[in-house]
Amino acid sequence: MSVVDRQEWDVVVVGAGGAGLRAAIEARERGARTAVVCKSLFGKAHTVMAEGGIAAAMGNANSGDDWQVHFRDTMRGGKFLNQWRMAELHAQEAPQRVWELETWGALFDRTEDGRISQRNFGGHEYPRLAHVGDRTGLELIRTLQQKVVALQQEDFRETGDYESRLKVFQECTVTRVLKEGRQVCGVFGYERESGRFFVLEAPAVVIATGGIGKSFKVTSNSWEYTGDGHALALLAGAPLLNMEFVQFHPTGMVWPPSVKGILVTESVRGDGGVLRNADGKRFMFDYVPDVFKDKYAVTEEEADRWYDDPDRNRRPPELLPRDEVARAINAEVKEGRGSPHGGVFLDVSTRMPAEVIRRRLPSMYHQFKELADVDITAEPMEVGPTCHYVMGGIAVDSDTAAARGVPGLFAAGEVAGGMHGSNRLGGNSLSDLLVFGRRAGRYAAEHAAGRGDGTRPRVTGAQVDAAAAEALRPFSAEAEAAAAGEPGVGPPENPYTLHQELQQTMNDLVGIIRREPEMKQALEKLAELRLRARRAGVEGHRQFNPGWHLALDLRNMLLVSECVARAALERTESRGGHTREDHAAMDRAWRNVNLLCSLTDPTGGLAATDPVRGQIALTRERTEPIRPDLLALFEKEELVKYLAEEELS
Ligand code: FAD
Repeated sequence: MSVVDRQEWDVVVVGAGGAGLRAAIEARERGARTAVVCKSLFGKAHTVMAEGGIAAAMGNANSGDDWQVHFRDTMRGGKFLNQWRMAELHAQEAPQRVWELETWGALFDRTEDGRISQRNFGGHEYPRLAHVGDRTGLELIRTLQQKVVALQQEDFRETGDYESRLKVFQECTVTRVLKEGRQVCGVFGYERESGRFFVLEAPAVVIATGGIGKSFKVTSNSWEYTGDGHALALLAGAPLLNMEFVQFHPTGMVWPPSVKGILVTESVRGDGGVLRNADGKRFMFDYVPDVFKDKYAVTEEEADRWYDDPDRNRRPPELLPRDEVARAINAEVKEGRGSPHGGVFLDVSTRMPAEVIRRRLPSMYHQFKELADVDITAEPMEVGPTCHYVMGGIAVDSDTAAARGVPGLFAAGEVAGGMHGSNRLGGNSLSDLLVFGRRAGRYAAEHAAGRGDGTRPRVTGAQVDAAAAEALRPFSAEAEAAAAGEPGVGPPENPYTLHQELQQTMNDLVGIIRREPEMKQALEKLAELRLRARRAGVEGHRQFNPGWHLALDLRNMLLVSECVARAALERTESRGGHTREDHAAMDRAWRNVNLLCSLTDPTGGLAATDPVRGQIALTRERTEPIRPDLLALFEKEELVKYLAEEELS
């Protein structure tokens, strides 16, 4: 068996995006020796791509804003399926997390009187997004990275070793969370460059690996988003919550094909951009759903007045939550009123002077100029929906971020479920990373501190051998499958072909609008792909071998895709990011139902090949009733639209 490097830490954080870094900083500040592992280069996580801003009710742009308004907006956006305690903590703590970032060196855009500037975004009642042009995620990561380095310098002064208490393992992929009995005892992974295996032993592991978008063909997500953390948790025995809720952002680029899916930030609409169809009509006025009718303008004049006088006018319907806008664009294109390349037009050129566009939306200006040869200061963009974010994720305790059922496992950021209910509001992810990243780091450190040297769970040789054998399988997949007498053994499969087929399947059959027969077809295709993926073979050796990396990632994408498809088939209503053509209405009876996915084989094995049963078992559970003082923040007439009779009484 391969030689495996082993090290001991108190806390291991898997992922160095906003959530992972915030968790690591907190754990280290609370005295835990903390290791951070990330697939890409340090400082190059998906968070860097975040454009619009961080939602926090600081009240800088409108003093009417406070945590209660933010809480209400978040619950409305999630159609009341949010884990309400998370939404409460998030709204209360987000401003502190933004101010803290500033004390660590973040340079936010300012208001005229010198406070942190806040911009409008869909679903937020007030301008609420603290931002740095349209490069907020970059500044967030830069600041957290700088804080990590500052802590390492502090450690050097005390111990003579920069990495004695906080170390980053970059370009390393974790493939298994290891356990002794029910307890987490570490992680197994490989260095992407050398292919060498390693084990980091620790009684507490924080998963902060981000999303799942690479299972879909058209996506705004980066290469890292292969659902690894979701799969790691499932394999470790932790359930995933409400995986049917995948957000399709309304505005991705649609042309040229090589850039299809790349995000066009919501700030474009927040700053005054309007959506028009091929007839030049501002069509969003036709798509305001009943639950939002009293909050959105009914005429273009009122919508336009809102930008200067938000207290006496209602918001433009372009700023409805993302699920509503994405469905509207989809409908316009389907009705034949789309733009030449299958999207609609998003125009800022007639709404703002060129110089303001270049200043407020510099990345968008360059993105369109360089990738599509479109000058957004002079002509409209063509945009359409793109898979953007997963609301579903690891089921966690709201206060501590502890993953359900696996002591020592924690999760934060996009990989964790619950916070955003059925649909996330723009800007609420960056704040989520900071609020729950910090909480995960704190409780992971406390968990580790409670396990002194004598009581720590231990990694055994057998666990390491099993994880190494699984990781090496793509080098001998075909022979192994044949020797095991697996059904359908055939020639080796190309991981890239399998990936493409998976992406096409999820895009076409479990995409923005879902239908029962198509989802059943998707499950059959996923079962076929699962069998073929066991023969995903690679050539060559372990030194930087992207085919091998993809073959390993396929396990995760297939698991997660099955969760999405099964949960989407089960939920016979439309809510937030989950739209069923055959069950088009939101159903109050589903408001308090969570769907949990777990492995059919509780030992963490992946042998199940039965296309009907698959690898994932679904269970329903009732959501915890919303605390009365939080319900009292809403008008009864509004609650009636969402809550079931018994909840209202
Ligand atoms: P990430 O930042 O993705 O970090 C994940 C980390 O996990 C990475 O370091 C990765 O290398 C590592 N990793 C993954 N798998 C493994 C593994 N197996 N082993 C080891 N490491 C692993 N949200 C907002 O609130 N405001 C915005 O303005 C905004 N704009 C966006 C713009 C774009 C284009 C996109 C795509 C998203 C945007 N979002 C925005 C969403 C937001 O950026 C993400 O939800 C958020 O950054 C996720 O952060 P994270 O810390 O959970 O994960």
